[in-house]
Amino acid sequence: MKKQFEADTGRVLNIVINSLYSDKDIFLRELISNSSDAIDKRRFMETSGAVEKTDAKEHQIKISTDKSEGSMVISDTGIGMSVEELDGALGTIAKSGTSEFLEKLEAQKTDDKTKSINLIGQFGVGFYSAFMVADRVEVLTRKIGEEKANKWMSDGLTGYEIEKFDKSKSGTEIKLFLNKVGKEYLKKEKIQEIIKKYSDHVQYPIKWIDTKSEDLETLNDASAIWTKAKSDITKEQHAEFFRQTGGGFGDPMLTIHNKAEGVISYTSLVYIPENKPFDLFHVERAPKVKLYSNRVFITDTLETVLPRWLRFVSGILDTSDINLNVSRELLQNSPTLRKISKTLKKRILTELGKLKGKDPEKFEKFWENFGSVIKEGIYEDADSKIDILELSKFKSVNNQSSIFLSEYLDKMHKKQDAIYYLASENIEQAENSPHLEAFRKKKLDVLILTDPIDTFWLSVVNEFKDKKFMSITHGEVNLDKFDETKDKSDKKDDKKFEKLIAKVKEVLGEKVADVRISNKLVDSTCCLVASDSGMDVHMERMMMLQNKDFKGMPRVLELNPDHKLIKKLTSLIGKKDNETKQIALTLYDQARLMEGQLPEDIGDYCSRVSDYMQSSL
Ligand code: ADP
Ligand code: MG
Repeated sequence: MKKQFEADTGRVLNIVINSLYSDKDIFLRELISNSSDAIDKRRFMETSGAVEKTDAKEHQIKISTDKSEGSMVISDTGIGMSVEELDGALGTIAKSGTSEFLEKLEAQKTDDKTKSINLIGQFGVGFYSAFMVADRVEVLTRKIGEEKANKWMSDGLTGYEIEKFDKSKSGTEIKLFLNKVGKEYLKKEKIQEIIKKYSDHVQYPIKWIDTKSEDLETLNDASAIWTKAKSDITKEQHAEFFRQTGGGFGDPMLTIHNKAEGVISYTSLVYIPENKPFDLFHVERAPKVKLYSNRVFITDTLETVLPRWLRFVSGILDTSDINLNVSRELLQNSPTLRKISKTLKKRILTELGKLKGKDPEKFEKFWENFGSVIKEGIYEDADSKIDILELSKFKSVNNQSSIFLSEYLDKMHKKQDAIYYLASENIEQAENSPHLEAFRKKKLDVLILTDPIDTFWLSVVNEFKDKKFMSITHGEVNLDKFDETKDKSDKKDDKKFEKLIAKVKEVLGEKVADVRISNKLVDSTCCLVASDSGMDVHMERMMMLQNKDFKGMPRVLELNPDHKLIKKLTSLIGKKDNETKQIALTLYDQARLMEGQLPEDIGDYCSRVSDYMQSSL
């Protein structure tokens, strides 16, 4: 039966074959990694009693070449593929993220494409890299527990064929008919070199078969990297293993290797990448931690190994203290696994804490890449919120670069008992906010929170080190205590403004919750604040974006008693009623504009402004 490739498959193949030529060697790494995965899966089935046990020593990956035919064979004792699996796994690329991968790749400059080579494995298109070196590929495979075998054949261009075939043992055999550039892989030396570089740590022996003498020679170290002593693992080996665990392109920024012995014993080796994976905000993105039991792979899709807010972490967790013969659900809820996960999570946060002190520059890079992801943990994970808050950096009015909360506390005014913040869409909007005027004048620092996630965690976290978080757009912020020089009697005289306030209230009616004299405006005429019982202004905007029917609560309009216009207005009360009314409406609209909102009635607003312009000419 002959089949066409799906459209996307053809596209990926084309890119893989034609644009990613810079490092052809990786085809072998990808095929070996598939073989190793397949043996992992079979061993898991064996340990859980689903299929007959084979001697662990029998598991291996073999490589041979035939110079006269110009071919190479890679065989494994893995789980094999049924005919449906062959069709699904090698005929389609349906995985999520593939189309993003394509877009990213196609947009790249040619010299950047070298980097992309490492993306191949990440997107589950590793198998296709075989077509970089081969004109034709045959996959002969027999699924464990099945009698029949199948052969998949393709030229990597148009489509593929699947035929019934005979194979004496379960497993997979991949035959590559090497193309012109692929001929260099016929030599053992070349193969050995690639294996040392990329696949040394694969835990199954990779054996070279000498076709003449039939001698077998093991080409790799064949021990799981995480079982080695820390000092025996080189940076390069870590980098390679990091990429194999799906860490992404580039190198690990942080390597956390830990062996715990005690009531529960386990080994963990996890990495934090130096680069940001571009599916980081994809709904399906999860931490990539493979679970092993005594070096037998169990699963890489368990949700409880690490929380989603650590979804940039990849690596392995190996423990013999969990029962293999249990269902996925039981495993998911295993108390042992929970304990390990908790320590592992804590460990990662501790290491990040160390990095923060040791290498601020590196930490800054980490924060830029993953700050908004890890902050999700502040509201999702009560256990970790303090640790995460200590790692968190924020922009602030008084500082050029972002600061830690501890730095904010260290530098704040001795009379200050709250951490002031302004949540805003972006820095520019925040910088222009009238809410900041008095804080600036009194040199009080205000955190500027532009990450949407901040509004969410702030709804559940009230304080840090006994200091409350306080939105400066929320309620009445009294800054009088910071004024050493100001005489108390010199305080704004509300009486003077009573009539004006009453008038503005009357004009604006239900548009506002209240009108009052501000004690934080310096240059602006007025601003809108959330009422004491209401939601933070920015939070409210976020809610409106998500729910079109959500209208929000009326705000409080604060007027600047020191502003000329406001002073002038007080003298017009009772004299120029209509003018006062028009100005009150315009002031309200302007206060909305400063918050990034449109005036309620745009036409009306424009005609009022036109009138003012006309009358000023
Ligand atoms: P990935 O390994 O990321 O899933 P690949 O393109 O490398 O993507 O492989 C696609 C799929 O083909 C694998 O997930 C696996 O199901 C199947 N496969 C490839 N090689 C083998 C093999 N040697 N034994 C069994 N299955 C394999
Ligand atoms: Mg693969």
